[in-house]
This record gives sequence, structure tokens and C-alpha cells, in this order.
Amino acid sequence: MRYAGVIVDLNAEELDQVYTYSVPNGMVLAPGQRVVVPFGPRQVEGYVVRLEEQCELEPQRVKPVIRPLEAYPLLLPELLELAQWMRETYFCTLASALRQMIPAQLRRERVRAKKLRMAQLNCDEDQAQIAIQGKKSRAPRQAEVLRQLLEGARPSAGLNGSALTALKKQGLVKIYEVEQLRSPFRAPIIRGRQDPELTSAQADAVREVEEGVKRGVGRFLLLGVTGSGKTEVYIRLIRGVLQSGKGAIVLVPEISLTPQIVDWFRSRFGDCAAVLHSRLSPGERYDEWRRIRRGDARVVVGARSAVFAPLEELGLIVVDEEHETSYKSDRRPRYDAREVAWERCKRAGAALVLGSATPCIESFMRTDARVRPENRYQLLELSQRVNGRPLPTVEIVDMGKEISRGNNSMLSGALQQALLECLAEGKQSILFINRRGYSTFVSCRKCGYVERCQACDVSMIYHRSDDMLRCHYCGAMRRPPKRCPECGSVHIRYFGIGTQKVQEAVQALLPGARLARMDLDTTRGKDGHEKILSAFGRREADVLIGTQMIAKGLDFPDVTLVGVVAADMSLNIPDYRAAERTFQLLTQVAGRAGRAQDPGRVIIQTCEPDHYAIQLAAKQDYRAFYRKENTLRRRALYPPYTRLARLLVTGKDEEAVIQKAQSLEKELGDYLNEESELKSYVVHMRALEAPLGMIRGEYRWQVFVKLYRKPEAQQILAKMDEFSREQKDVRIDLEIDPSNML
Ligand code: ADP
Ligand code: ZN
Ligand code: ZN
Repeated sequence: MRYAGVIVDLNAEELDQVYTYSVPNGMVLAPGQRVVVPFGPRQVEGYVVRLEEQCELEPQRVKPVIRPLEAYPLLLPELLELAQWMRETYFCTLASALRQMIPAQLRRERVRAKKLRMAQLNCDEDQAQIAIQGKKSRAPRQAEVLRQLLEGARPSAGLNGSALTALKKQGLVKIYEVEQLRSPFRAPIIRGRQDPELTSAQADAVREVEEGVKRGVGRFLLLGVTGSGKTEVYIRLIRGVLQSGKGAIVLVPEISLTPQIVDWFRSRFGDCAAVLHSRLSPGERYDEWRRIRRGDARVVVGARSAVFAPLEELGLIVVDEEHETSYKSDRRPRYDAREVAWERCKRAGAALVLGSATPCIESFMRTDARVRPENRYQLLELSQRVNGRPLPTVEIVDMGKEISRGNNSMLSGALQQALLECLAEGKQSILFINRRGYSTFVSCRKCGYVERCQACDVSMIYHRSDDMLRCHYCGAMRRPPKRCPECGSVHIRYFGIGTQKVQEAVQALLPGARLARMDLDTTRGKDGHEKILSAFGRREADVLIGTQMIAKGLDFPDVTLVGVVAADMSLNIPDYRAAERTFQLLTQVAGRAGRAQDPGRVIIQTCEPDHYAIQLAAKQDYRAFYRKENTLRRRALYPPYTRLARLLVTGKDEEAVIQKAQSLEKELGDYLNEESELKSYVVHMRALEAPLGMIRGEYRWQVFVKLYRKPEAQQILAKMDEFSREQKDVRIDLEIDPSNML
């Protein structure tokens, strides 16, 4: 008798274990295969994780596997191991980790292969000709169908249905089904696009990775200014990987997975490239996934979850724009695709290349020679734009001075002038509002003063409900000032500029101009985003106004002006990464201008013109920014020097939510008192209201914990995870180093 260890595909944590089933005689199973098994009174889907000859349980208590769902293992063995690692690292269930690894559509058999019914002659040509003669007058439609089929098999949908049925009965025609792959690619492949000759910096980067791989050094950080040709480096590395018979995964932020990017990879790798992202239809996704699993596609381009693509013989994973927050999942399991990528690469002996013009502080820190070799990234650098094109010139406009001068508009004199000139020259401009989620901080428009928490060095949030300012890290509270404590101005107010308001201001300035707006409201629907961009690309608008979704990957040769309406919006988000996010956004935006011959002009409006994030983004000086930011993080004990975690408590009953948060704080405190050696790893811990105190009618509180970055601190996180499982009237979520904490 053989036995199968099975993980059932159900959510409950108490079911997160391997159940044993017997394998009926004649049934062939392999690890990674999906099966249907009896579970209590029900039948459920599950994953075979191991096969054994023996079983500890009494034989009569072991039930048999009912049937396999597919004839082959859907999950690769290495992905089974990876799921195990995810369970330990992210405190998730095995089933939820495994679920990331196959398209949702495959589970519960919601999508099937698309079948095409085909008709074909079931007789030789002579017989068909004789039949046509006989039917010509008696059954002209049948004769017509036979004539069409004489040219070869064809889809039955295009043929006369009743004639076909009759012919089939007579045995003259047969009907069969073939699988039709749904392709997400709209345009046919433009074949034979030549690889350009690499610049010497690109060639060096490619060589270093290839040599590193030979020496078994696996992790690289490619720091390349905007327009330095990072993508071409990836492409050349992928070519090498394919030549050695292996495959590659390229992760791109969802937002930059535009059809242009996808077509671009396809033009270089043809049908060998597959794409996986959430805008595909379920059928497309299912078919692309199977093309990869079968080995027909060896290059996968996709968003975060493509890190789980079922590629055998993995040689390389590229993570482009590695600083993007979207690589971190904000749903369970809360995995970080960059970490998962490295775990996969380690197991497969593959190389990991992270690329960005503005790497996150944590990543760049790892290029330091003092970092232990197993954690270190090897730094590769592209410091110049391809073809020696200059970086754009950036002007910083002090909005405080505009107010002193009597200009209360959100467009400065310089930006108004530039917009008018740009329109007169027949060029295009982009106006950018770097809004992130919500931002309700209080700031002085005249001098840039912002109300901050002295203890935590983040801006305080304005709560309309009780007219108070709060720090969401430590809970400090105070009344918002009526006048600026710094300069006495009354232009102190709650900040918030929307795309719509900017659109109105621009329309008033340029009544004849055609405007396009891109934000969450205008980009609903499958291709909302794409439609606006392609219309802008066809020059159907003169000015494009949008949020950060326009900051990336756009290459419009006629854009000569880029304006940032209020750089302060992201500078003052209540998050310790506010300066980093601002630097990243501004660098990306500035990188949009002057892609073609024209050098282009960038105008950044701000109330804090001397802020280092703004000054250094204008100069595109990543290293200087890194040094400054790193010093501040060390001083204020923020990541990468510490880890932040929280237990988020939500529920409809405010009293229950508050009580639970407070009792969690106490329980955790008691635990730390018992395990006193762990206590020294905690910098601080507080139960307080979350920055967004209510979402969709649910109250939100949090137990916020700051820990030193030491392996032992994982024990504290494990304890927090344990606490998060006692959910009765409220929901509790554990978030570790989340990309935002609203
Ligand atoms: P990045 O991703 O670093 O911002 P891109 O990869 O978008 O830069 O490259 C910028 C432009 O330079 C693209 O239009 C690309 O096709 C072009 N390019 C890249 N490498 C070369 C090269 N070796 N020769 C000519 N053009 C190149
Ligand atoms: Zn002021
Ligand atoms: Zn504080």
C-alpha cells in the first residue's frame, strides 16, 4: 500500500497540517499533484506533498484518495519547498502559500481549456466529389459544406449547423475538438528585431553577472540612472540563460506592465515569452500559465505573483524597479517577492538581479562591503544615459515666495509660463500630483512648516472627527494651530490637492488646450489606463495630469515639460519613508522628460525647497541621498536598523476593538516580562488607534512594535502571530515591515 500526505485546500489555520490518505491500486501520484480527497462529510481539493510506503495510523482509519485532478503534478517540487519556507517566514498556512503558486482559476475548476470544434471530411476526396454531385440540387447546403471541407478541416462554427449534423450522420464528416490557447497578445510578433550593440557600461554589467554566476555569487543590484538602458542588460542576460537551456523570470511593477513593455519582450523573445498579470482574463492567465508549465515559454514577464511561475530549470530572476512597494503583498500571505525570488534562486542556483535608479535604502545598504557575504548584493552601475543624452534640468520653485508675491494659485508663475510656452511650441506636457493614498497633514503654505511629532519625526495626521492632530507611531495628540508657529502666516491648512482641482486650474489658464486626466477615477475598467496613455501618445491631448501612475515607464518623445504640482504631498506622508518615497517619485518623474533629442524641462513646486530629498532628486544624486537618509535612519532607529510590526485589530464594535488592542498590548508585555532576555530587542510598543481610524464602517486599532533587527526578534514576531489567531469578535492581522501603515 502507498500513502499520500495531502494538504487540504481550506483556509482554516487548525487544518494547516498534512493529512494521510491511501493511494488506491493503479492510481499513479507524484508530489505536487492535486487530488480530490474525502474530508469529513465533504470532498475537497488538496495537494500531494509527499508519498510514503508506510503509515503510522491504523489502516482502517485511512481513507483513499478519490482521484487526481490532473495527470501531472501542477506544482514543481521546488515550489513545494518554497511554500514551506513561506509558512515559517510569513506565518501563513501552507495552503495559502501553495495557492499563490497556481492561478486561482485552476482551483475549483472555474476555467477550462478552451476547446474549438473542428469539422473534417471523413471520406476521401473522390467520395466527397460524388456526394457533392448527388446533393447539388437535393441538398445544396450539404453540398456547400462538403465543398468547403474539401479545402481542409475548419472550425464547425462557420459552417451550416443542420447540414453538418446530417453529413455527420451519413458518416461523410467527422467533428472533433482541439484546444485553442487564448493569447493575451494583441499584435502579432514583430520578428527579427535586432539587439543593439551594448554600451561599454552595459557590457560590463552583463559580464559581471555572468562571471558572478560562475563563481556562485548570486545577488546583484543594478543601479542605473533613468534612461541608462537597464532593460537591455536584462535582455542580454536572459539570452545567455536561454542558451544554457534555462529559463528566466522578469518581475515588473503591475503599473508598468503596459502592452508596450510586453510587446517589447515579445519582439525580442517571440513565443518563448509569456506574461502573467492581473489584468489578463482568467482564460488567458490559465493558458499562459500552462504554456510555462509545459516548457513552451521560457521567459516569464509578470507582476509580483509571477515569482511563483512554474518554470523548471530556472537560471535568472530580474526584479525591475526593485524599490516599488508593490513587490510586497498587502494581503495574506504577506510575502515580499524580492525575498521569495532569492529563496527560489538559491535553491535553483540561479542569479537574482535587482534593478532601479533609486533602490530602496535596505537594498543599497546590502552592497556595503561590511555586510556578511551571504546577505550582500554585488553592485553594478550604469551612471550615464544611453547615447550620452543629458539628464534633464530641474528647477525648484518655492511656493512660499509665490504666496508672498500674492499668487495663491496652485500653479506658480514659472509653471504657468512654461505651460503657455510648451503649448505655443506645439509640444506636450505632463503635470504630476504625487499623492499617495490620503494625506491630511497640516502645513504652512508660506514657509513650509509642518506639524510633526518630535519624538517620532513623522508628520502628524489631522483627524476631522475631533479636530485633533495625532502621531500614529506613539499616539501623541495636540490641537492644530490657527497660525503658523514658524512665520505667523494664516495660510496654514490641511493639505490635499486632487487631480481634478489641478485640471480646473490648467483649463482656466489654457482655455484652448486639450487636457487628459489620469487617476483612479478615470482609469477604471480593463484598459482604462492604457486608453488614456495611448490617446496621449497619439497627441490627442496637450497636457496629461495624473497621479504617480504616470511616473513610470512612459516614453513620449513630444513631452518637453514635466511639472510636479506639490512635491510636499509625499514629503509629509506620516511615514518614516516619506523622504525616500519623495526622492524616488521625483527622480522617476524627472526621468520622463528629455527622452528624445530635446533635453526637456522639469519644474518642481514645493514649500520646502531646501529639503534634501528635493534638492538631491533635482540633481539625480542617488548616492548623496542614500548617505543622508541612512544617517537619519540610524539615528532615529528606523529600518533597516529596526523592524516595524503591528497587530491590526478591526471590527464593527468600537469598544471591543479598543479592548482587544489594549489586552494584546498587555499580553505581549507579560510575555516579554517572562522572557526577559527578549525584552532588550524591543525598542518600543504601544496600543493606539490606527492612522485611518475607520475604514468601511470598521474601527481600527493597532499594537505597534519596533524591534531591533536581530534573529532572536523573530521569536517575538512568532508570539505576535500566535496572538493574532485568537479572533472572536474582532479581526486581528499581523503585519511585519508593511509598505504602509495606514
Ligand atoms: P532605463 O530602464 O534604465 O530607464 P531603458 O532600458 O528604458 O532605460 O533604455 C532607454 C532607451 O535606450 C530605450 O529606448 C532603449 O531602447 C535604448 N537603449 C538601451 N540600450 C541601448 C543600446 N545599447 N544602444 C542603443 N539604444 C539603447
Ligand atoms: Zn509658516
Ligand atoms: Zn510620535
